[in-house]
Amino acid sequence: MSKKRVLITGGAGFLGSHLCDRFIKEGFHVIAMDNLITGDLSNIEHLFKLPDFEFYHHDVSSFVHVPGELHYILHFASPASPIDYLKIPIQTLKVGSLGIHNLLGLARVKKARILIASTSEVYGDPLVHPQFEEYYGNVNPVGPRGVYDEAKRFQEAMTMAYHTFHGLETRIVRIFNTYGPRMRLNDGRVLPAFIGQALRGEDLTVFGDGSQTRSFCYVDDQVDGIYRLLMSDYTQPVNIGNPDEITIMQFAEEIIKLTGTTQKIITHPLPKDDPKQRQPDIRKAKEILGWEPKVSRSEGLKITYEYFKSLPREILFERDNKSFERYIR
Ligand code: UDP
Repeated sequence: MSKKRVLITGGAGFLGSHLCDRFIKEGFHVIAMDNLITGDLSNIEHLFKLPDFEFYHHDVSSFVHVPGELHYILHFASPASPIDYLKIPIQTLKVGSLGIHNLLGLARVKKARILIASTSEVYGDPLVHPQFEEYYGNVNPVGPRGVYDEAKRFQEAMTMAYHTFHGLETRIVRIFNTYGPRMRLNDGRVLPAFIGQALRGEDLTVFGDGSQTRSFCYVDDQVDGIYRLLMSDYTQPVNIGNPDEITIMQFAEEIIKLTGTTQKIITHPLPKDDPKQRQPDIRKAKEILGWEPKVSRSEGLKITYEYFKSLPREILFERDNKSFERYIR
């Protein structure tokens, strides 16, 4: 029997590349697509030799063509860190609007099931805690995070419209902070920021007083939740994340302990609209998908630290390993 074919957009990115690995392992034919603005081919280099892996260098905000059958589409193309979407706000809006429109159209033509990557950012700076799927959120559309939050909210609305109007098979995952190997060292996210600082012998920069909270999910757990959601028949949004909540100050202390750095913690001003607390309510994922995270933060952080330690030194000292300028139009 011929293999099921899956298209993974953002396939060279952090989550996309781990999804490519998982679908290859599950016996799929995987087509990864990426414009490489924030993705990196080194994340999928090991897959190129496989007959069941293909890569298309393409920006999904332009018409998407994939020859042959497609059974599944996973839309994971998007800048996803606050620094990235501040640098490329228009592209962030385009991939969540024009990009999803192209992919929903493709899914219709191919009669494929499509899963879209949404985010805890749809809840904005949440006024309910923990965040459950029926909470509508508290988002500032014109703040610095608005380009990402609103793109993702639009993406959910568009996906739901294709589901109800065209009867398309759709799935929506709301991803909470996720970490692991292949995160970009300089994407500005707190975990690579702290580990990078520790490895370079710099002080750790806590924004604000560090009392804001996040709940960090290890990438293998995240990918497993996404896989289960895709294979389920549930069409409403589902939170996938680890409810183990921690303040950013405690997190900095954990990184200091993990890395053994002798540097200290310094504080920087808190960025505008930085959510004060974030923790997923994962009752739906548990009930519907039989999913819950298995990897503790201490285990996951150890693996991630080993990954960052193994990177070439020039990457460690590169301030910005991506040139965004050529994409700004
Ligand atoms: N943060 C920090 N120091 C850094 C980078 C981030 O204290 O060097 C904080 C940031 O203000 C936020 C939290 O860590 O409160 C998580 O930031 P991240 O960019 O990883 O993701 P977010 O969850 O805010 O999208």
